[in-house]
This record gives sequence, structure tokens and C-alpha cells, in this order.
Amino acid sequence: MDFLPLYFELQNKPCLLIGGGNIAYRKATLLAKAGACLHVVSKEVSDELAQLVERTKGSVRLGDYQTDDLNDKFLVIAATDDHELNQRVSADAHDQHIPVNVVDSPELCSFILPAIIDRSPLVISVSSGGKSPVLARMLRSKIESSIPAAYGKLASLVGGFRDQVKQRFSNIEDRRLFWEDVLQGPIAEMVFAGKSQVAENMLAKRINEESNNTGEVYLVGAGPGDPDLLTFKALRLMQKADVVLYDRLVSEAILEMTRRDADRIYVGKSRSDHAVPQEGINQLLIRLAKEGKRVVRLKGGDPFIFGRGGEEIEELAAHKIPFQVVPGITAAAGCASYSGIPLTHRNYAQSVCFVTGHLKDGTSNLNWRELVQTNQTVVFYMGLVGLPIICEQLIQHGRSPDTPIAIIQQGTTAQQRVLCSTLRDMPGAVVREKIKAPTLLIVGEVVSLREKLAWFEHIQPENDYKLLK
Ligand code: SAH
Repeated sequence: MDFLPLYFELQNKPCLLIGGGNIAYRKATLLAKAGACLHVVSKEVSDELAQLVERTKGSVRLGDYQTDDLNDKFLVIAATDDHELNQRVSADAHDQHIPVNVVDSPELCSFILPAIIDRSPLVISVSSGGKSPVLARMLRSKIESSIPAAYGKLASLVGGFRDQVKQRFSNIEDRRLFWEDVLQGPIAEMVFAGKSQVAENMLAKRINEESNNTGEVYLVGAGPGDPDLLTFKALRLMQKADVVLYDRLVSEAILEMTRRDADRIYVGKSRSDHAVPQEGINQLLIRLAKEGKRVVRLKGGDPFIFGRGGEEIEELAAHKIPFQVVPGITAAAGCASYSGIPLTHRNYAQSVCFVTGHLKDGTSNLNWRELVQTNQTVVFYMGLVGLPIICEQLIQHGRSPDTPIAIIQQGTTAQQRVLCSTLRDMPGAVVREKIKAPTLLIVGEVVSLREKLAWFEHIQPENDYKLLK
């Protein structure tokens, strides 16, 4: 972090502005909004700036900047197009330890002005550290459109009850839970609907109610790796949860998106290492929820596709613990898109089948006859270890040894690797290329379409391999 965002209290504070044109006026407007008393030094000053200065009970001095102008100032902004002058102002201000901003010259600044979304008293600022103000402004527009204007009203409303709530709940954790409930529940909805008075009455009543301290579990599909593939709902619940239980397939980038102060608990599992056995995970979920925690159980991909999500919610239901399940993008969908292999295609595959390649006792537990139908794509999850057997069995049961097969390692992440071959040659190719888990296998004619779709934006040629035949 190159700059620490801080919010200054500027009410009636003398602030110096050097320059009298349009840009100076824009900066002056911001300072005036925050209640600053404006002092402007410039050879010329526009009428509107002069009027604004008057409203802030400040002063205008027409003439050249002098070091003395800095005396007793709280901060200074230089908005002139005279680079030498800007440099002088910056050097003087640095000497006197007065915060200084020089418009469009981050190297001369000791503070920079972010792009601002003003929902006072709620203020959101976005900064690129001076690297790309345009990008910061674009982000501001995005945020602006997603934060209703009424958020300011909501902040004001709850601000009026802070002391009362402090007295009601001495414990900081209880207070946080109370506020989170209020800010995400029906009271906030009332404010957004323009019914501030109703909201205020509800809040006054809610403070004196006994709290209902049951936790909740959110079984959330975190997708195959790329954090951009999370759903809005997943993100919202991830940011609400007090505790996060996650397994091996959940990427660091996704974990980063959970609430900063949430407890994170790793619960495994790779093929042979179950950090916490399934029964232990179920018990942990129940215990935490009974303690009143909001627990997010983050699962790779989709919780209901080879994710044992069903078993976890069965236990929760048996203990009457409220839960929600949030679907995620399953590895098959993510890997297919990011490697340019459509899972179905009018000419090549009319159905797609998701199968576990984790072969418990060799080969017997899969219905191979069903898997060798032509015009069908077969996706194997957990198929790396069993790959030689899978290829061999598919051939033995009638699929051509030339059937295309792709293996996608760490699909959708920056480390994604795609290897395409045939049922005959893939086992050898995987050894040669030192392919590692997690990997997904896609078997069927659709794999050959990848060549045509190689312009696909997500395909990263540097991690990619030529079709090995
Ligand atoms: N619930 C998950 C699957 C869990 S089983 C889902 O819906 O995707 C674990 C298997 O998923 C792994 O062995 C691997 O086969 C596959 N997998 C998960 N993430 C993957 C990724 N990013 N790239 C390739 N395969 C992945």
C-alpha cells in the first residue's frame, strides 16, 4: 500500500489553495463540502471561486505565492500549471510538515485525493495511488451505481442509536452481531424504501428485544479457482460469516474475499490426506452454529457435485440448524469454458456425463458400457490416479483408441494447463508432462473443437500444450 487512506476533519480549518482556475475551483468545492475555511492565493481568481471562498469565510489574495502563505495552514493544495511554482509549494510544505497535494503530480504530493462516493455520513474513497486516476474514477462509477443513495440515511439513522446500543450490549461481539442484523435485515430495507420513520421505530423496539442467538451455516460453492467466478450470493455470505471452513481446492484469492476478521479453519482434503475427517467436519459445523456463529463452509466448485454437500446438510437438518446452500460453478463448467472445449455440441455430443474417477476397487464400480456411447462427452472428476485404467477400460468397452481426451490441471486459475491427446496416448503424456492434481478429464469428440476455438480469451498459450497425437 503506497498511501494510507485517512479521513480528515476539516471543519473551520484554514486550508490554502494556490491557483484560481477551474481545477482549483473543483478542489475548493471538495474542501468547502468538508467545512474547510478556504484561503486562495492566485494572480487571478474566477468569480465562482471568489464567491465560494466568501461562503467559507476565507480570504483571497491576488498575487504570487509566498512561503508565508503557508503559516497556520492545516493543508495545502497547489492547482496551477506552473511546474516550478508547484515544486516550490511542495518543498515548502514538506519543510513545514504541512500535508500538500499538487494536482496531477503525485511525486510532489504528501497526500492525494481519491475519487469519492459521497453518501454522507458514509463516504467511500477509491484511489489508484496516483497511478491511474481514470481507473479509480471508473471504479467509483461502478460502486456508485451499486450503493443506493439511502445508505447515507441508513448510516445517519444507526448513528443516532450507537450510544443506546453500547449500553444495551457491553460485549463488542454482541454489538457487532446486532448491527449486522440491523444493517442487513428489514430495518435497512425500510430505509431503502424511503420509510425512515418506520425504520427508526423498528430499531428503537429491536434494541430492547431479547436476541435470538442461533447460528447459521452457509454451504457455499466457491467455483473452480478464479475468484471472478463466485456468485454475488456467495460473496455476500462470505463477507457475513464469522467462521470459514475451507478445503484444499479453495484458492487463496477466494479466501482473501472472506471477512478479514473471520476465523479460518482448514479442513482438508486431498486424496489421501483428510485434515479433518468428514464426520469431524459435520460435528464442527454443528458445534460452531450452536455457539451462535455464522459459518461459511466453502467448497471447491459446486457443493452438490462430488462435494459431499448432501451429507453435511443432512446432519445440519437433523440438528435443526438453519442453513443455505449456494451453488457454484463446477469444475467441469469452469474448465470447459476456460480451455475452449464445449461440453455439448450439436454435431458431436448430445449429452454430457459427470463421473467420479476415484476408483474404489480397481474398475468394477463404474458402468463402463454407458460411458462408451458415442455422441456423449464424459467428464471425470478425481481421475488423475486412475487415468491409465480409465483409458484402458474405455477402449476395452468399445471406444476408439483415437478418441480425443483433454486433461485440465488447475482449471480457471492463472496456472491452468491443458493437455490434449487420445485415449491411447494420454497416460504416457501425463507422466511426461508431470501433470498434477487437481485435474479434470474430458473425453469425447468435443475436445477436438479446442483447436478451432484457440482464440478463446481464457486460453493461456504459455501454459498450454500442443495436441499430442
Ligand atoms: N465440488 C467440486 C468437485 C469436488 S471433487 C466441483 O463441483 O467442481 C474434486 C475434483 O474436482 C478434483 O479431483 C478435480 O477432478 C476437480 N477439480 C476441482 N477444481 C478443479 C480445477 N480448478 N481444475 C481441474 N479440476 C478441478
